[in-house]
Amino acid sequence: MHRLARLDRKYIWHPFTQMRDWFKREPITIVAGEGAELRDLNGRRYLDANSSIWTNLHGHNHPAINTALRQQLAKIAHSSALGLASEPASLLAEKLVAVANGRNPARPARRLEKVFFSDDGSTAVEVALKLAYEFARRRGNVKRPKFLSLAGAYHGDTIGAVALGHVDLFHKAYAGLLFKTDQVMSPYCYRCPFNRAKPERADARQYRKCNWECVGKVEQKFAAQKKRGQTYAGFVFEPLMQGAAGMIPQPPGWLRQVAGIARNHGALLIADEVMTGFGRTGTAATTADNLSPSKSRTIFAPNLFGCHHEGVQPDLLCLAKGMTGGYLPMAVTLAKRRIFDAFLGEYEEFKTFFHGHSYTANQLGAAASLASLKLLQSAGSIRSRIRLEKDLRQELPALWSLKNVGDVRQVGLIAGIELVRDWKTRETFDLRERAGIRVCEAMARRGVVTRPIGNVIVLMPPYCTTSAQLHRMVKTLYDACRETFG
Ligand code: PMP
Repeated sequence: MHRLARLDRKYIWHPFTQMRDWFKREPITIVAGEGAELRDLNGRRYLDANSSIWTNLHGHNHPAINTALRQQLAKIAHSSALGLASEPASLLAEKLVAVANGRNPARPARRLEKVFFSDDGSTAVEVALKLAYEFARRRGNVKRPKFLSLAGAYHGDTIGAVALGHVDLFHKAYAGLLFKTDQVMSPYCYRCPFNRAKPERADARQYRKCNWECVGKVEQKFAAQKKRGQTYAGFVFEPLMQGAAGMIPQPPGWLRQVAGIARNHGALLIADEVMTGFGRTGTAATTADNLSPSKSRTIFAPNLFGCHHEGVQPDLLCLAKGMTGGYLPMAVTLAKRRIFDAFLGEYEEFKTFFHGHSYTANQLGAAASLASLKLLQSAGSIRSRIRLEKDLRQELPALWSLKNVGDVRQVGLIAGIELVRDWKTRETFDLRERAGIRVCEAMARRGVVTRPIGNVIVLMPPYCTTSAQLHRMVKTLYDACRETFG
């Protein structure tokens, strides 16, 4: 075993990993990357099919981001945001506010105007939670504001974010540390108890037979609070696709309807776009025109956030993962002015938002984010995203011929493939059978790396992934399923 792999096994405790399993094989040790490829210390190449846990956007070792980082390094790597401003943070905040308000400039009351920097997805959500909690207390006479989030939700692993989540497997251990939040069913069409359709070989959203009971359930939750003379301080959701919940896509129109309900009841809309943000949910392009290099002048600037595809403008927007293009840990929570204003006062009133970390608004992270945003808005990147989304739509149907593929769901540049014992019955694999893990191990042996969420395989490639590379990812998943299930 290579010395670096030995050192890893001796010293490193990996996140979300059963270390006893880790010790069973030599880890893949990554030493380099280029575009959609990773290279290990033996020179073996792997396709990065989940963009290094959903962070990478434009590919590894990207010249534009590398240059931006070098230029920033020549000036300074970090100075504190506690008491000081900085060049890249100021410039980035301006750009983020511009894109966070969507393609159609919002009315002033709808605009996200303030940017609070932090470090990771969990901290972005933690900030939103604390802001909404304090905002509710200051606005009304609520002693203990309550939150509503979706069944199966994952919003991070700091204690506040855990409390907003509803993944028993991850969260049960900490029940004693958590405050109570309410949950409501998510629109998981494939396993919805209200969906009367028999399984078909298509995304369950397309053939569902229901009466939007999932929307009715949200209405009921708010109505029940109203009866008690209360409302939720915030409704927390991932737009279009719930990620770590198992890549659960929402049927078009769901978000618009539930956001309307939450708003009518006076709850803040808290959008967790940690996974979905920065173009992941697609360009919503309806024609292939934008693919043609000769039509570069006709290229449009697509919305970068899932919320905007449904015409929903949140009150708090949490961003992280892809913000730096997958280079550095950095996150933001964007807020509307009325939330910001609730924290204004004389010093001695102590209305300050008492929250902040040492590396808040890190200058290197901000420089990388600025470069990434510029790339995202370039015609080349938009074209690549449109093509990749189309490639996914063309490649994924090959998986329907597998008996153990129950649902194939795609939202923009995100795909979740749910493995089942038999597609005709939707019967699940027990988690102890490690079906998803075994398939991903078989994929890694074939040179494609991704990570399962239980029985769901994730394909979320970097935007620079070529058609041939995407074909290889899907074919490898196909072959890995054949190997694993026979
Ligand atoms: N929110 C969502 C929607 C996520 O997918 C994740 C991470 N998977 C988080 C929050 C937490 O982000 P991080 O791991 O960067 O803390």
